[in-house]
Amino acid sequence: MGKTLYYKSLGFILRNRDYLEADRLISIFTEKYGKIGAIAKGVKKPKSSLRACTQPFCYSELFLRRGKSLDIVSQGRILEFFGHSREDMVSVMYLLYMTEILDKILPENQPYPELFFHTIEIVQTLENKGPRPILLRYFEAQVMNDLGFSPVLNQCVNCGSQKALGEFFSIVEGGLLCKECYQRTTEPVFFMNAEVLAVLKLLLRADLKMIERLRLNEQTHAQIERFWEKYLEYHLERRFALKNALSVLKKMMPSE
Ligand SMILES: [Zn+2]
Repeated sequence: MGKTLYYKSLGFILRNRDYLEADRLISIFTEKYGKIGAIAKGVKKPKSSLRACTQPFCYSELFLRRGKSLDIVSQGRILEFFGHSREDMVSVMYLLYMTEILDKILPENQPYPELFFHTIEIVQTLENKGPRPILLRYFEAQVMNDLGFSPVLNQCVNCGSQKALGEFFSIVEGGLLCKECYQRTTEPVFFMNAEVLAVLKLLLRADLKMIERLRLNEQTHAQIERFWEKYLEYHLERRFALKNALSVLKKMMPSE
């Protein structure tokens, strides 16, 4: 879907930074065009109408004009400000974690509408019900799923066998290994028990309403957290220098 000279899209503001005197450069995850960079002109002036709707973490409807290199935000309005989350330190860390991942991994101008709406749904749940780590695990699952890195959990990723699937997950190959392939592999393997496997499948397939009702014991949650960390790092790190950003953010986050 190409952009016309003027276009409009829903957008989730990932970050903004100073740009020239009164302007800001905004990174936006838009519904229709994926991640884009755009200039909000005059936004630092106190009366600018763009000031509010281009703040990080805002869910806004934006009107844009195509520019030579960067597009220009011409108008916008806030749909949701997520005021409760902004006042809660842990929720802010959640928002930073999600926007940092999206800003780093999304290629420019490539739409991911499903991931867009999943993200908004997660942020709305965070706003309405407060921070729970399972929200981040769901977010991580949606990111990997929608970007095409969904782990293979129903058959051996190496030979396709559906028999004798063990608890061995090859991070490098991106899926479970059968017992035979496990014995032959030289790659590092992540061990996951049946419960972890079942929860991972749910995170990838179930909707958020169902995920919210999950009550995981600490060990299972910790394993799933570690799994996504390794999996995201391996598949995204080389391209996006994600590792430092994620571990720094995680250290600031209190555990459940
Ligand atoms: Zn196999």
